[in-house]
This record gives sequence, structure tokens and C-alpha cells, in this order.
Amino acid sequence: MLPMIVKHPGQPEVVIHWWDADYEPPLPAGAVRGDITKQNFCLETPFYYYEDQTKTCLQCGSNFVFSAKEQKYWYETLSFHQWSLAIRCRECRRKRRTEAAVHRQVSRSKAAVRARPTDARAQLAAAAAIHALRTGYGAGRIDDGIAAARKAYELDPRLHEALYWEAECQEAAGRTARARRLYEQFVKLASVLTRCRSLVQSASKKIGES
Ligand SMILES: [Zn+2]
Repeated sequence: MLPMIVKHPGQPEVVIHWWDADYEPPLPAGAVRGDITKQNFCLETPFYYYEDQTKTCLQCGSNFVFSAKEQKYWYETLSFHQWSLAIRCRECRRKRRTEAAVHRQVSRSKAAVRARPTDARAQLAAAAAIHALRTGYGAGRIDDGIAAARKAYELDPRLHEALYWEAECQEAAGRTARARRLYEQFVKLASVLTRCRSLVQSASKKIGES
């Protein structure tokens, strides 16, 4: 008999005794042996073994395999609760992590702007982050990005990148004519600047395309 420790947030640990750690049911083909001493909160039967499970992703609807190896990692290394199940495919999980990172980037850049309101580069970083959030994930307010880019240029008129980021934001807001004028203005002023080379390339391409 094996004592199982039941952990529940905010409550004392409870020790229960009825699972048999030595019990080793025959492994089905392709299954991975579970170590029940490493599993957390087993009120249901613990995982004596894991098998690949085919599931449907909650987000994109595609089928994916929640593999036996992955399950072992979730329940024994990460100590996930027995009832936590993979509901998203790997790709959607990865995207969600990336989206969370972009949200954090926007929060950090806005905090930097609040801390140093006259720092033109901080304003510019905020504009770029807001643009990434809007175009990548449809979240955030693009007008904040436009305001930040304008503020950056006002604070430092040599920072022509501000024109580029305002153009990107205007484009994301659907104001293509305005965006085009800004891209043109940017290329004219920044084409001689080494630090702006890749932005100039990108702006030139956009002017050529539209
Ligand atoms: Zn998915």
C-alpha cells in the first residue's frame, strides 16, 4: 500500500492509502508505464500506464495526439492534476504562449512610457508593440499605437522611424492612403540612415505594392 498525498490549494495535505504502487498491469502495445508515486491528487484510479489519445482541439478543431510520453510529463514531472487534459493542439498552445508574450510586451512598453514620458524611443517601442498585438491577434487599440508614434516624433524629430510605425498603425487601422503618404515621407527622410535600412526596404515594398 502506498500513501498518496493529496494537495489542494489553501488546504492541509491529506494522505490516503489505498493505491498499490507495486501493482503493474500488463502494458498495452505502445503504452508507457506510469509511476503513481509521482502523480498528484489521485482520487480516481491513478495512471498505471499512459496511452496515446486522439483529441479534438478546442481552438482550431483539428485532431491531435495527446501522446503517452506527454501525459507522463504532465502528470509526473509538471505535477499537473489528474483531471487536467490537453484541450488544445501543440500549435494552438504555442500560439497562445506567443500571444501572451506580446500582451506582456505591450504592458511593459506602456509602463516604460509612464515611467519615462519624454523618452522618444520608449514611445516608439510602445507603438511597435501595440501594432504587433493588433495585427497578430486583433487585440489592443491601434489608435494608442498611432498616438505613441506621433509622440515619439514630436519628442525627437530625428527619429524618422516614428513615421514608419505610424504608417504601419494607420495601415492596420484601414487608413491606407494616410499610411502610404507616411511610408513615402519615411523613405525620403530615412533612406540614407544605416539604422533604418530594413524598415526602408519594408516601406519601399509597401509603396511599390499599393
Ligand atoms: Zn489547435
